[in-house]
Amino acid sequence: MVETREIFRNFPFLLQIAFYVIAFSTIAIFIYGFYLRIQKYRKGRADARLDNLFGRFMKAAAIMGKNSTVFKRDAFAGFAHWLIFWGFIILLIGTAIVAIDHDFLRLIGVHILQGTFYLGFSLVLDVFGVFFLVGLLMMMVRRAKKPAQLDYTRNDLKPDQYNRKGYATDDKIFLWLLFLIGLTGFLIEGVRIAADRPAFEVWSPVGWAIADLIDSMGMTSAANTIHLYGWWVHAVMVMFFIAYIPYSKAMHMLIDFANLMFNDDLAAKRLPRVDEERMKVGMGYNTIQDFTWKELMDFDACTKCGRCHSVCPARNAGTALSPRDLILDLRTHADRAIGSPEWFQQTFAKEPTAGKKIAGEVISKDVLWSCTTCMACVETCPVGIEHLTSIVNLRRALVDEGNMETMLQDTLANIGDYGNSFGQSERNRAAWTKELDFKIKDVRKEEAEYLWFVGDYASYDGRIQDISRRVARVLTKAGVDFGLLYEGEKNAGNDVRRVGEEGLYEMLVEDNMAVLEKSRFKKIFTTDPHSYNTIKNEYPEFGGSYEIEHYTGLLLRLIKDGTLKINKKLGYKVTYHDPCYLGRYNGEVDAPRQLMEALGVELQDMPRCKENSFCCGAGGGRIWMDDSKMEERPSENRIKEALTLGDVPYFIVACPKDYAMFSDAVKTSGNEGKIEVKDIIHLVEEAI
Ligand code: SF4
Ligand code: SF4
Repeated sequence: MVETREIFRNFPFLLQIAFYVIAFSTIAIFIYGFYLRIQKYRKGRADARLDNLFGRFMKAAAIMGKNSTVFKRDAFAGFAHWLIFWGFIILLIGTAIVAIDHDFLRLIGVHILQGTFYLGFSLVLDVFGVFFLVGLLMMMVRRAKKPAQLDYTRNDLKPDQYNRKGYATDDKIFLWLLFLIGLTGFLIEGVRIAADRPAFEVWSPVGWAIADLIDSMGMTSAANTIHLYGWWVHAVMVMFFIAYIPYSKAMHMLIDFANLMFNDDLAAKRLPRVDEERMKVGMGYNTIQDFTWKELMDFDACTKCGRCHSVCPARNAGTALSPRDLILDLRTHADRAIGSPEWFQQTFAKEPTAGKKIAGEVISKDVLWSCTTCMACVETCPVGIEHLTSIVNLRRALVDEGNMETMLQDTLANIGDYGNSFGQSERNRAAWTKELDFKIKDVRKEEAEYLWFVGDYASYDGRIQDISRRVARVLTKAGVDFGLLYEGEKNAGNDVRRVGEEGLYEMLVEDNMAVLEKSRFKKIFTTDPHSYNTIKNEYPEFGGSYEIEHYTGLLLRLIKDGTLKINKKLGYKVTYHDPCYLGRYNGEVDAPRQLMEALGVELQDMPRCKENSFCCGAGGGRIWMDDSKMEERPSENRIKEALTLGDVPYFIVACPKDYAMFSDAVKTSGNEGKIEVKDIIHLVEEAI
C-alpha cells in the first residue's frame, strides 16, 4: 500500500465542484479586501521608504521569525504568539503543498505527497498543529484573566459616548475561528484514519490518537459520515477565515510584516521635516490625506495589544491620551474617509464626519497636548507603529492655529525672542559660571577639545545651576579642556520640535549651527539628554554633523583612563532614573550604570528601567504646560516606584529636567525625608 491519502475522499464530483466555486469566491473577496487596503494607502502622501527592499525584508523576517518584539517584556504572550505564528506558517505551507500536489502536479502526472515524504509531512504538520492549538489556548487563558492592557475602556470618553463591542467580538472571532479550524483539522484526520486504519498513519500521531478514541467510543462505523460533514465544516471555516482577513483583526497577519519592513529605525528620534510644498498649506496635518502611506498603514497594523496603552505616562496620569486609542481613532477615521471599513469596528455616539479637521476635532487637543513624547509607545509596539510622528504632525496643525495653552505660547515666544525657555536675557546664559573660581573658555574665541552644550535648564534654573558648577569643577579638576558658547548658545530645539513648532525649531537649529560653525572644538558633550538627542539625530539633516556624547559617558572614560581618580568607594544604595532621551531614544543605559559601579554605589534598579524607563512627565513641552489636572503626575508615580525598593535613600538622575521634576515630586507626593534626588555628578564629586 502506497503511503499517501486521498484528498477528496468519498466526495461526489459535484461536491468537489462546489468546493472550488466557494474557494474561488473566497479568494476573490480576499483579493478585493486587500486591493481596498492598498488603494487606501495609495491615498496617503509619499514617504521615501522604498530603499534597500531586500535589507528591509530580511529585517522584518528576522523579527517575525523570532517574534522578538512580542517576546519583549512579555514572555508568556511572546511564547504563545511564537507557537501560533509557526504553527500557522507550517500548516499554511502544508496546505499549499497539498493544493500544488493535487491541483497542479497531478495534471502532469507527478505526485509528491506519497512515500517517505508523506510520512514526514504528516508528522511535521501534526507537531505544528499542536503548537498552533496550544498557542491559541494560552492566548485564550491570558484574555480570560483580563489583563489591564486589553481593557478597551477609555479615559477621554464616558461609556455612553462610544461602543467597542465590535472590537471585542472581532477578538473572539479571530481566536475561536483559528482554534476551531485547528481542532476540526485534527478531527477529520482522526476519523479518516479510524475509517481505514492504514498502519503508516501512525506518523500522524495526533490523528492516530483521535482514531483510537473514536474506536473506543464505538463510533468507527460512522467515521466516513463524520468525515464528510466534518470536512465541510472545516473547509467552510477556512474559507470564511480567508475572506475575513483583510476586513478584520486578522489583517495584522499581512500588514504587520509590511509595517515592520518599512519601519524607520530613527522613528521619533528624528522627526520628519516639512517640505516647502507642504509649508504653503501649513506645517501640520489637517486631513487624512496629509498622512503618508506608512502612517495610514500604521493605523491598520495595530493589533490592539494595548502595550502602548499600559506604558504611556500620560494615560497613567489619567489624561485623555492613550496611544492605542489615538491610533484606533485614526484608523476608524481613515476607514470612513478614504478606505474600506472593518467588519467589526468601534462606533461613537457623536461620529466625527469625514470633513472634520483631524487635529482638535477627530483627535481632541487634550489628547494631543497630553503627550510627553517619551517614546515608550513606539519602543514597546511590537509591530513598528510610529505613534509619535503622527502626534507631532497633528500638534503642528494646532500650533499653526495657535490652539495651545497660554503658558506654552508664552514659553515659545520667549524661546523665539531670547533663545531660552526662561525668557531671560541671552547675556545671562552663563551667569552660573560667575560663582566659579576659574574661567571657562569661550570656544567662539579660543580652541578647546570639548564644547559643553549646557541647555536651558542647566543654564538658567536656579535649582540646577549648582549642578552645572559641580560638573565644571569636576572636569576642571580632571584637566579636561572644555569651553562654552556663552550667549551664543540657544535652546537646542528638541522639545520645541516635539511641541510642533517646526518653524521655530528650524530657526534655532540654524542659529546654533551658525555659532557652532564659527567655534573651535573637536567634540561636544552635554548634560542635557534632550539637546543630545536633537543634535545627534536631527541636526545632521540640516547639515550639522557633530560628535556628541552625554556627560556620563565622558566621566566614565575619565575614570577608566585614570584621569579622574576615585578616592573613596561610596558604598551606599541608590536607584537610577534612565532619562527617556538618553536610555530609550539613544540606547545609552550602560555608561551611567558603569559609572555608578566605578563609584562604588550599590545600584538597585526600579522595575521600569533602561529602555523601559518611566517618563518624568517633562518632555515634549509638557514642562511648559499645566499639569495640575492630572490624577497623578508621572514624576510622583515614579517616586512611589522608587520607594517600593525599600531602603534606597538616593534617587539618581542624569538630566536637568529630571532633577527639577523629581525634586518637586518628592515634595508634592509627601515623601520628603524618605528619598533624596541627586544628580550623578554629586556622586562623582563625593567619590573623588
Ligand atoms: S510618547 Fe509617551 S506620552 Fe506620548 S503617547 Fe507615547 S507613551 Fe504616551
Ligand atoms: S499601537 Fe502597537 S502597542 Fe499599541 S495597541 Fe496597537 S499594536 Fe499594541
